[in-house]
Amino acid sequence: MADSNAECNIKVLCRFRPLNQSEIIRGDKFIPVFQGDDTVIVGGKAYVFDQVFPAKASQEEVYNSCAKHIVKDVLGGYNGTIFAYGQTSSGKTHTMEGNLHDPQEMGIIPRIAEDIFDHIFAMDENLEFHIKVSYFEIYMDKIRDLLDGTIFSATYLKVCSCVCFFEGCTERFVTCPEDVMDVIDEGKANRHVAVTNMNEHSSRSHSIFLINIKQENVETEQKLSGKLYLVDLAGSEKVSKTGAEGAVLDEAKNINKSLSALGNVISALAEGTKSHVPYRDSKMTRILQDSLGGNCRTTMFICCSPSSYNDTETKSTLMFGQRAK
Ligand code: ADP
Ligand code: MG
Repeated sequence: MADSNAECNIKVLCRFRPLNQSEIIRGDKFIPVFQGDDTVIVGGKAYVFDQVFPAKASQEEVYNSCAKHIVKDVLGGYNGTIFAYGQTSSGKTHTMEGNLHDPQEMGIIPRIAEDIFDHIFAMDENLEFHIKVSYFEIYMDKIRDLLDGTIFSATYLKVCSCVCFFEGCTERFVTCPEDVMDVIDEGKANRHVAVTNMNEHSSRSHSIFLINIKQENVETEQKLSGKLYLVDLAGSEKVSKTGAEGAVLDEAKNINKSLSALGNVISALAEGTKSHVPYRDSKMTRILQDSLGGNCRTTMFICCSPSSYNDTETKSTLMFGQRAK
Protein backbone atom coordinates (compact mmCIF):
# COMPACT_ATOMS: atom_id res chain seq x y z
CA MET A 1 0.00 0.00 0.00
CA ALA A 2 1.06 3.56 -0.66
CA ASP A 3 1.81 5.46 2.50
CA SER A 4 -0.32 8.34 3.67
CA ASN A 5 1.41 11.28 2.06
CA ALA A 6 -0.29 14.46 0.89
CA GLU A 7 -1.01 13.38 -2.70
CA CYS A 8 -2.48 10.07 -1.78
CA ASN A 9 -5.00 10.68 0.92
CA ILE A 10 -7.95 8.73 -0.40
CA LYS A 11 -7.73 5.02 0.20
CA VAL A 12 -10.29 2.61 -1.16
CA LEU A 13 -10.37 -0.81 0.42
CA CYS A 14 -12.61 -3.70 -0.48
CA ARG A 15 -13.83 -6.32 1.97
CA PHE A 16 -15.88 -9.44 1.28
CA ARG A 17 -17.74 -11.21 4.07
CA PRO A 18 -18.11 -15.03 4.15
CA LEU A 19 -21.29 -16.72 2.84
CA ASN A 20 -23.87 -16.82 5.61
CA GLN A 21 -25.91 -19.82 6.71
CA SER A 22 -29.00 -19.08 4.64
CA GLU A 23 -26.92 -18.49 1.51
CA ILE A 24 -25.15 -21.81 2.02
CA ILE A 25 -28.47 -23.62 2.56
CA ARG A 26 -29.87 -22.02 -0.61
CA GLY A 27 -26.85 -23.34 -2.50
CA ASP A 28 -25.46 -19.91 -3.48
CA LYS A 29 -22.00 -19.87 -5.01
CA PHE A 30 -19.02 -17.95 -3.62
CA ILE A 31 -18.22 -15.67 -6.57
CA PRO A 32 -15.14 -13.54 -5.83
CA VAL A 33 -11.69 -14.72 -6.86
CA PHE A 34 -8.91 -12.96 -4.97
CA GLN A 35 -5.63 -12.13 -6.68
CA GLY A 36 -2.68 -10.76 -4.76
CA ASP A 37 -3.71 -8.41 -2.00
CA ASP A 38 -5.26 -5.68 -4.12
CA THR A 39 -7.38 -7.36 -6.80
CA VAL A 40 -10.66 -9.22 -6.86
CA ILE A 41 -12.24 -10.81 -9.91
CA VAL A 42 -16.02 -10.93 -10.16
CA GLY A 43 -17.83 -12.12 -13.28
CA GLY A 44 -14.58 -12.19 -15.25
CA LYS A 45 -13.76 -8.55 -14.50
CA ALA A 46 -10.83 -7.48 -12.31
CA TYR A 47 -11.34 -4.72 -9.75
CA VAL A 48 -8.23 -3.18 -8.22
CA PHE A 49 -8.21 -1.35 -4.88
CA ASP A 50 -5.57 -0.17 -2.45
CA GLN A 51 -6.19 -3.45 -0.69
CA VAL A 52 -8.73 -6.26 -0.90
CA PHE A 53 -9.68 -8.31 2.14
CA PRO A 54 -10.93 -11.84 1.53
CA ALA A 55 -13.72 -13.30 3.62
CA LYS A 56 -11.33 -14.83 6.14
CA ALA A 57 -9.61 -11.54 7.02
CA SER A 58 -9.94 -10.86 10.74
CA GLN A 59 -11.11 -7.62 12.35
CA GLU A 60 -7.59 -7.10 13.70
CA GLU A 61 -5.99 -7.54 10.28
CA VAL A 62 -8.38 -5.06 8.66
CA TYR A 63 -7.79 -2.53 11.41
CA ASN A 64 -4.01 -2.87 11.51
CA SER A 65 -3.51 -2.47 7.80
CA CYS A 66 -6.09 0.22 7.06
CA ALA A 67 -7.21 2.24 10.02
CA LYS A 68 -4.53 2.17 12.70
CA HIS A 69 -2.30 4.82 11.09
CA ILE A 70 -5.19 7.29 11.05
CA VAL A 71 -5.12 7.51 14.85
CA LYS A 72 -1.60 8.93 14.77
CA ASP A 73 -2.60 11.38 12.04
CA VAL A 74 -5.61 12.66 13.98
CA LEU A 75 -3.46 13.05 17.11
CA GLY A 76 -1.04 14.95 14.86
CA GLY A 77 -3.76 17.49 14.01
CA TYR A 78 -5.19 16.06 10.79
CA ASN A 79 -8.89 15.45 10.11
CA GLY A 80 -10.15 12.24 8.63
CA THR A 81 -13.17 10.22 7.58
CA ILE A 82 -13.67 6.48 7.35
CA PHE A 83 -16.73 5.21 5.46
CA ALA A 84 -18.31 1.83 4.98
CA TYR A 85 -20.26 1.54 1.72
CA GLY A 86 -22.25 -1.46 0.49
CA GLN A 87 -25.62 -3.12 0.24
CA THR A 88 -27.53 -4.09 3.38
CA SER A 89 -25.98 -7.12 5.06
CA SER A 90 -22.63 -6.76 3.28
CA GLY A 91 -20.68 -6.16 6.50
CA LYS A 92 -20.62 -2.36 6.97
CA THR A 93 -21.58 -2.36 10.64
CA HIS A 94 -19.41 -5.42 11.24
CA THR A 95 -16.47 -3.48 9.81
CA MET A 96 -17.12 -0.16 11.56
CA GLU A 97 -18.37 -1.39 14.93
CA GLY A 98 -18.33 -5.16 15.05
CA ASN A 99 -18.99 -6.54 18.48
CA LEU A 100 -18.05 -3.66 20.80
CA HIS A 101 -17.52 -5.89 23.79
CA ASP A 102 -15.54 -8.75 22.24
CA PRO A 103 -11.80 -8.08 21.85
CA GLN A 104 -11.55 -10.39 18.79
CA GLU A 105 -14.69 -9.20 17.04
CA MET A 106 -14.41 -5.49 17.76
CA GLY A 107 -14.53 -3.37 14.61
CA ILE A 108 -12.75 -0.17 13.70
CA ILE A 109 -14.45 2.32 16.04
CA PRO A 110 -13.73 0.50 19.32
CA ARG A 111 -10.17 -0.27 18.17
CA ILE A 112 -9.62 3.40 17.36
CA ALA A 113 -10.95 4.34 20.80
CA GLU A 114 -8.47 1.99 22.47
CA ASP A 115 -5.58 3.17 20.34
CA ILE A 116 -6.24 6.85 20.97
CA PHE A 117 -5.98 6.39 24.71
CA ASP A 118 -2.95 4.07 24.41
CA HIS A 119 -1.16 6.78 22.44
CA ILE A 120 -2.17 9.53 24.81
CA PHE A 121 -0.97 7.68 27.88
CA ALA A 122 2.39 7.17 26.19
CA MET A 123 2.80 10.82 25.17
CA ASP A 124 4.57 13.81 26.67
CA GLU A 125 3.07 14.62 30.05
CA ASN A 126 2.98 18.31 29.19
CA LEU A 127 0.21 17.57 26.73
CA GLU A 128 -3.35 17.99 27.90
CA PHE A 129 -6.08 16.28 25.88
CA HIS A 130 -9.79 16.97 25.54
CA ILE A 131 -11.65 14.30 23.66
CA LYS A 132 -15.29 14.71 22.73
CA VAL A 133 -17.55 12.41 20.77
CA SER A 134 -20.87 12.93 19.02
CA TYR A 135 -23.17 10.38 17.45
CA PHE A 136 -25.89 11.20 14.97
CA GLU A 137 -27.65 9.88 11.95
CA ILE A 138 -28.86 11.31 8.69
CA TYR A 139 -32.23 10.06 7.56
CA MET A 140 -34.12 11.59 4.62
CA ASP A 141 -31.56 14.42 4.66
CA LYS A 142 -32.38 15.28 8.27
CA ILE A 143 -29.82 15.05 11.03
CA ARG A 144 -30.85 13.36 14.25
CA ASP A 145 -28.80 13.52 17.43
CA LEU A 146 -28.50 10.01 18.87
CA LEU A 147 -27.23 11.25 22.24
CA ASP A 148 -30.18 13.46 22.97
CA GLY A 149 -32.91 11.57 24.79
CA THR A 150 -35.52 13.92 23.38
CA ILE A 151 -34.92 12.96 19.76
CA PHE A 152 -38.42 11.51 19.53
CA SER A 153 -39.75 15.05 19.37
CA ALA A 154 -38.01 15.32 16.02
CA THR A 155 -35.65 18.14 16.96
CA TYR A 156 -33.47 17.76 13.94
CA LEU A 157 -30.15 19.51 13.84
CA LYS A 158 -29.36 22.02 11.16
CA VAL A 159 -26.18 22.43 9.24
CA CYS A 160 -24.83 25.96 9.75
CA SER A 161 -24.33 27.93 6.58
CA CYS A 162 -20.65 28.21 7.50
CA VAL A 163 -20.43 24.43 7.14
CA CYS A 164 -17.99 24.27 10.03
CA PHE A 165 -20.34 22.44 12.32
CA PHE A 166 -24.00 22.10 13.01
CA GLU A 167 -25.87 23.64 15.88
CA GLY A 168 -26.87 21.85 18.99
CA CYS A 169 -25.30 18.45 18.55
CA THR A 170 -24.59 16.75 21.87
CA GLU A 171 -20.90 16.38 22.61
CA ARG A 172 -19.68 14.01 25.30
CA PHE A 173 -16.29 14.22 26.94
CA VAL A 174 -14.62 10.82 27.13
CA THR A 175 -11.64 9.87 29.25
CA CYS A 176 -11.15 6.18 28.46
CA PRO A 177 -12.18 3.61 25.81
CA GLU A 178 -15.03 2.37 28.02
CA ASP A 179 -16.57 5.87 27.94
CA VAL A 180 -16.58 5.67 24.15
CA MET A 181 -18.30 2.25 24.14
CA ASP A 182 -20.88 3.58 26.62
CA VAL A 183 -21.68 6.49 24.32
CA ILE A 184 -22.10 4.15 21.34
CA ASP A 185 -24.37 1.86 23.36
CA GLU A 186 -26.40 4.86 24.46
CA GLY A 187 -26.79 6.14 20.91
CA LYS A 188 -27.82 2.72 19.66
CA ALA A 189 -30.39 2.38 22.42
CA ASN A 190 -31.87 5.79 21.53
CA ARG A 191 -32.00 4.76 17.90
CA HIS A 192 -33.85 1.56 18.84
CA VAL A 193 -36.45 3.41 20.88
CA ALA A 194 -37.07 5.95 18.16
CA VAL A 195 -37.90 3.53 15.37
CA THR A 196 -40.14 0.48 15.07
CA ASN A 197 -37.99 -1.67 12.82
CA MET A 198 -34.37 -1.12 13.74
CA ASN A 199 -32.87 -3.31 11.03
CA GLU A 200 -34.77 -1.64 8.25
CA HIS A 201 -34.15 1.78 9.69
CA SER A 202 -30.41 1.32 10.07
CA SER A 203 -30.17 0.23 6.46
CA ARG A 204 -31.89 3.46 5.37
CA SER A 205 -29.97 6.00 7.39
CA HIS A 206 -26.34 7.02 7.53
CA SER A 207 -24.89 6.81 11.01
CA ILE A 208 -21.98 9.05 11.91
CA PHE A 209 -19.74 8.81 14.95
CA LEU A 210 -17.46 11.82 15.44
CA ILE A 211 -14.32 11.88 17.57
CA ASN A 212 -12.91 15.33 18.25
CA ILE A 213 -9.46 15.61 19.80
CA LYS A 214 -8.01 18.85 21.15
CA GLN A 215 -4.61 19.01 22.75
CA GLU A 216 -2.60 21.71 24.38
CA ASN A 217 0.98 21.75 25.50
CA VAL A 218 0.70 23.33 28.94
CA GLU A 219 4.30 24.56 28.82
CA THR A 220 4.38 26.11 25.36
CA GLU A 221 0.61 26.71 25.10
CA GLN A 222 0.76 25.26 21.60
CA LYS A 223 -2.61 23.88 20.52
CA LEU A 224 -3.55 21.19 18.05
CA SER A 225 -6.86 19.69 17.06
CA GLY A 226 -8.03 16.92 14.79
CA LYS A 227 -11.27 15.10 14.22
CA LEU A 228 -12.37 11.85 12.75
CA TYR A 229 -15.74 10.97 11.25
CA LEU A 230 -16.69 7.30 11.22
CA VAL A 231 -19.56 6.71 8.86
CA ASP A 232 -21.74 3.62 8.44
CA LEU A 233 -23.63 4.47 5.25
CA ALA A 234 -27.19 3.53 4.34
CA GLY A 235 -27.56 0.37 2.24
CA SER A 236 -26.65 1.02 -1.39
CA GLU A 237 -29.04 -1.54 -2.91
CA LYS A 238 -31.42 -0.43 -5.62
CA VAL A 239 -35.09 -0.76 -4.76
CA SER A 240 -36.97 -2.49 -7.55
CA LYS A 241 -38.73 0.16 -9.60
CA THR A 242 -41.97 -1.76 -9.85
CA GLY A 243 -42.27 -2.92 -6.24
CA ALA A 244 -41.56 0.25 -4.30
CA GLU A 245 -43.98 3.10 -3.85
CA GLY A 246 -44.80 5.96 -1.46
CA ALA A 247 -42.53 6.33 1.55
CA VAL A 248 -40.25 3.44 0.58
CA LEU A 249 -39.66 4.91 -2.84
CA ASP A 250 -38.97 8.35 -1.32
CA GLU A 251 -36.44 6.83 1.06
CA ALA A 252 -34.78 4.93 -1.76
CA LYS A 253 -34.51 8.03 -3.94
CA ASN A 254 -33.11 10.00 -1.05
CA ILE A 255 -30.46 7.38 -0.23
CA ASN A 256 -29.54 7.07 -3.86
CA LYS A 257 -29.14 10.84 -4.13
CA SER A 258 -26.98 11.17 -1.05
CA LEU A 259 -24.76 8.22 -2.02
CA SER A 260 -24.23 9.57 -5.51
CA ALA A 261 -23.45 13.01 -4.07
CA LEU A 262 -20.81 11.32 -1.91
CA GLY A 263 -19.49 9.36 -4.90
CA ASN A 264 -19.21 12.60 -6.89
CA VAL A 265 -17.27 14.33 -4.12
CA ILE A 266 -14.88 11.42 -3.67
CA SER A 267 -14.22 11.04 -7.37
CA ALA A 268 -13.68 14.81 -7.80
CA LEU A 269 -11.18 14.63 -4.93
CA ALA A 270 -9.50 11.57 -6.42
CA GLU A 271 -9.18 13.28 -9.81
CA GLY A 272 -7.10 16.09 -8.41
CA THR A 273 -7.09 19.28 -6.49
CA LYS A 274 -8.14 21.65 -9.28
CA SER A 275 -11.57 20.31 -10.16
CA HIS A 276 -14.74 21.60 -8.55
CA VAL A 277 -15.75 19.45 -5.59
CA PRO A 278 -19.56 19.43 -5.21
CA TYR A 279 -19.71 19.35 -1.40
CA ARG A 280 -22.93 21.34 -1.28
CA ASP A 281 -25.02 18.71 -3.05
CA SER A 282 -25.96 16.83 0.12
CA LYS A 283 -26.16 17.38 3.83
CA MET A 284 -23.67 14.63 4.52
CA THR A 285 -20.97 16.00 2.24
CA ARG A 286 -21.48 19.48 3.71
CA ILE A 287 -20.96 18.13 7.20
CA LEU A 288 -17.90 16.14 6.18
CA GLN A 289 -16.42 18.88 3.99
CA ASP A 290 -13.53 19.81 6.26
CA SER A 291 -12.62 16.17 6.82
CA LEU A 292 -12.57 14.94 3.22
CA GLY A 293 -9.81 15.40 0.67
CA GLY A 294 -6.95 17.89 0.85
CA ASN A 295 -4.78 17.06 3.79
CA CYS A 296 -7.46 14.89 5.35
CA ARG A 297 -7.26 11.14 5.64
CA THR A 298 -10.14 9.63 3.72
CA THR A 299 -10.71 5.88 3.75
CA MET A 300 -13.59 4.09 2.08
CA PHE A 301 -14.40 0.47 2.80
CA ILE A 302 -16.31 -1.13 -0.04
CA CYS A 303 -18.22 -3.99 1.61
CA CYS A 304 -19.44 -6.87 -0.54
CA SER A 305 -21.47 -10.02 -0.29
CA PRO A 306 -19.72 -13.03 -1.88
CA SER A 307 -22.97 -14.72 -2.87
CA SER A 308 -23.98 -15.41 -6.48
CA TYR A 309 -27.47 -14.31 -5.42
CA ASN A 310 -26.18 -10.73 -4.92
CA ASP A 311 -23.87 -10.51 -7.90
CA THR A 312 -25.59 -7.55 -9.56
CA GLU A 313 -25.40 -5.47 -6.39
CA THR A 314 -21.83 -6.59 -5.76
CA LYS A 315 -20.73 -5.44 -9.22
CA SER A 316 -22.41 -2.09 -8.77
CA THR A 317 -20.77 -1.72 -5.34
CA LEU A 318 -17.36 -2.53 -6.83
CA MET A 319 -17.93 0.03 -9.59
CA PHE A 320 -18.76 2.68 -7.01
CA GLY A 321 -15.41 1.96 -5.35
CA GLN A 322 -13.56 2.11 -8.67
CA ARG A 323 -14.87 5.63 -9.30
CA ALA A 324 -12.93 6.81 -6.29
CA LYS A 325 -9.64 5.50 -7.66
P1 ADP B 1 -24.58 -4.20 7.07
O1 ADP B 1 -24.24 -3.30 8.20
O2 ADP B 1 -23.80 -3.91 5.82
O3 ADP B 1 -26.06 -4.26 6.79
P2 ADP B 1 -23.68 -6.26 8.86
O4 ADP B 1 -22.37 -5.70 9.24
O5 ADP B 1 -24.78 -6.13 9.84
O6 ADP B 1 -24.16 -5.69 7.45
O7 ADP B 1 -23.43 -7.79 8.47
C1 ADP B 1 -24.48 -8.70 8.22
C2 ADP B 1 -24.19 -10.01 8.96
O8 ADP B 1 -23.01 -10.62 8.45
C3 ADP B 1 -23.95 -9.80 10.45
O9 ADP B 1 -24.51 -10.89 11.15
C4 ADP B 1 -22.43 -9.82 10.56
O10 ADP B 1 -22.01 -10.25 11.82
C5 ADP B 1 -22.01 -10.78 9.47
N1 ADP B 1 -20.72 -10.41 8.91
C6 ADP B 1 -20.46 -9.32 8.17
N2 ADP B 1 -19.18 -9.27 7.78
C7 ADP B 1 -18.59 -10.37 8.29
C8 ADP B 1 -17.26 -10.90 8.25
N3 ADP B 1 -16.27 -10.28 7.58
N4 ADP B 1 -17.03 -12.06 8.91
C9 ADP B 1 -18.01 -12.69 9.57
N5 ADP B 1 -19.28 -12.25 9.64
C10 ADP B 1 -19.57 -11.11 9.03
MG1 MG C 1 -25.55 -2.10 9.30
